[in-house]
Amino acid sequence: MTITRVAIIGLGLLGGSIGLAVKARGLDIATTGFDRDPDVRKRAGERGLVDTVCDSAAEAVANADLVILCVPVGAMGAAARELAPGLAPHAIVSDVGSSKAAVAEALAAALPGACIIPAHPVAGTEQSGPEAGFATLFAGRWCIITPPEDCDPAALAALSGFWTALGSKVELMDAAHHDLVLAVTSHIPHLIAYTIVGTASDLEDVTQSEVIKYSAGGFRDFTRIAASDPVMWRDVFLTNRGAVLEMLGRFSEDLTALQRAIRSGDGDTLFDLFTRTRAIRRQVIEQGQDDERPDFGRDH
Ligand code: NAP
Repeated sequence: MTITRVAIIGLGLLGGSIGLAVKARGLDIATTGFDRDPDVRKRAGERGLVDTVCDSAAEAVANADLVILCVPVGAMGAAARELAPGLAPHAIVSDVGSSKAAVAEALAAALPGACIIPAHPVAGTEQSGPEAGFATLFAGRWCIITPPEDCDPAALAALSGFWTALGSKVELMDAAHHDLVLAVTSHIPHLIAYTIVGTASDLEDVTQSEVIKYSAGGFRDFTRIAASDPVMWRDVFLTNRGAVLEMLGRFSEDLTALQRAIRSGDGDTLFDLFTRTRAIRRQVIEQGQDDERPDFGRDH
């Protein structure tokens, strides 16, 4: 099947970036879009995030071959129910949500009988809203597709082809495994950043102005992650509860072991761990997932 019309529901960072990438890569695809916020719809029109901004979800999806839900994961079910009256029978319904098992369940309940293939482009920034999107967000990044067992192979090939055309590398994965992997690589790191920034701002014997003044010591890099959208991240933790709690248990045990090493002056344990983690950083750079320049390639 060929995708020539794509509808994007939610015109923030992810939705806007998809629309801009389709345009920038000159794909032969017409895009429509809808966002529940009228100010976002207005800005999306001004920035040209999609070819046509519509006034309802049902209008946006009419005749679309592919519908991509780009709303917070907790809003997926409601957004899907809203678009249902306009959905074409042949349409593929997908999404970009950061957790997958819960979203698959919400979409299946909202759109019984529809061809639903959830996906998660592992690409983003701490920015959100209609100003945040940019055309190269997905270039060289992974898009994980989590097809259901009875997925139509032609529809899966069409969705994979769409993400490849946006510059992504596609990987297929079971939804539960996706949720476990992302709990470690994304969700727990965000939780740690939220915790450390929260703890620092609650301290009594170190003032907040000192925390900010000396933030270049490491704290600053956590503040970038901890500035991520509160609605999006609240929903991620509520919908990926099981995997996050499982990984958090493991993390707490490792933290306790480090605490013990520090208390007992066990330098070898600390040195061995820090040597292993430095090698992981090297692999992240070698695989093109970050910049090798010091300080995350910032200009000074
Ligand atoms: P965003 O910039 O906040 O955009 C989401 C937009 O969807 C907002 O304008 C929001 O409007 C709108 N919306 C909410 N409910 C809606 C509904 N029922 N119908 C239509 N529009 C609705 O968020 P984002 O960063 O693009 O994230 C979107 C999705 O991508 C999330 O599921 C997230 O987990 C996933 N994701 C994010 C990243 C990242 O780094 N940000 C990376 C990968 C995947 P309101 O503001 O009025 O709610």
